[in-house]
Amino acid sequence: MTFQNPVTRFPRISPPEQHQPEPGLDQELVPQTDRGQDSYRGTGRLAGRKALITGADSGIGAAVAIAFAREGADVALSYLSAEEEDAQEIKRVIEESGRRAVLLPGDISDRAFCEQLVERAVEELGGLDALVNNAGRQIAVEDIADLPDEQWTATFDTNIHAIYRITRAAVEHMPPGSTIVNTTSIQAYQPSTHLLDYASTKAAINNFSKGLAQALAPKGIRVNAVAPGPIWTPLQVSDGQPKEALPEFGHDTPLGRAGQPTELAPAYVFLTSPESSYVLGETLNVNGGTPSP
Ligand code: NAD
Ligand code: MG
Repeated sequence: MTFQNPVTRFPRISPPEQHQPEPGLDQELVPQTDRGQDSYRGTGRLAGRKALITGADSGIGAAVAIAFAREGADVALSYLSAEEEDAQEIKRVIEESGRRAVLLPGDISDRAFCEQLVERAVEELGGLDALVNNAGRQIAVEDIADLPDEQWTATFDTNIHAIYRITRAAVEHMPPGSTIVNTTSIQAYQPSTHLLDYASTKAAINNFSKGLAQALAPKGIRVNAVAPGPIWTPLQVSDGQPKEALPEFGHDTPLGRAGQPTELAPAYVFLTSPESSYVLGETLNVNGGTPSP
């Protein structure tokens, strides 16, 4: 990739109405996404790094996992066991790129699993110096009257409680120079009426990232966040959006199209690479141009 118009770098897709049970599979998404498997070229920016990435089987997490491997990192992939097919595909791409991929299926809304996940990643990778807290669930509900307590709690358990638990366990193992990048969302600033639980967790992730960044700075561990706008991933077809909204997905951004997962990867690489040593507590918006704080 050299010189490209961002408006036309990827097509303006109008996905057909479709539905998958949660968590959804990349393999069944129409149209397919671009996770950079055929395009991302590394330059050794993460050589020798040991990274744990949650939600690494599909969408944004998969694009980040591929980019990290191409930049020279070994990667532990966290995902739900229902996503084994997607995870195996990303493992294959990482191994073809000459790096190690460690598969660690399990449910991060389970308190005990969060600690086991970190311990197993450390054991298998021989240490840990990069964490990407990217897993998340998003279930659209039109009316707060129909938003059950169980959904509110499950969304918080997965999206923010797990970040706290995984991070707490990981920090113990992280040497100075390590990095943490959390996936928040444009929803942190501009909550949709049908995503009250989800958007609240994303605001919490931003706040947690900024506080933790200050707390860990003296230890030489940097914490940042990435706030995606509308990105075409399985999250959107497993009740993340009302079905009838899918054909218009992302059309209202200044670029006029949804983003592809691979367009997120450089932000995570930048925030994880030592090049960004003076960047802490920042949220990098990757959203097609919608003004955000
Ligand atoms: P995705 O469905 O591909 O990825 C989400 C992943 O979260 C799943 O693959 C799954 O492995 C993981 N996950 C969910 N619940 C889990 C659980 N209980 N235990 C373990 N893993 C679990 O979709 P994506 O869009 O790539 O989402 C990645 C992140 O990006 C999420 O945090 C999401 O909120 C955020 N985000 C996405 C968009 C977008 O438009 N797609 C916009 C803003 C933020
Ligand atoms: Mg998935």
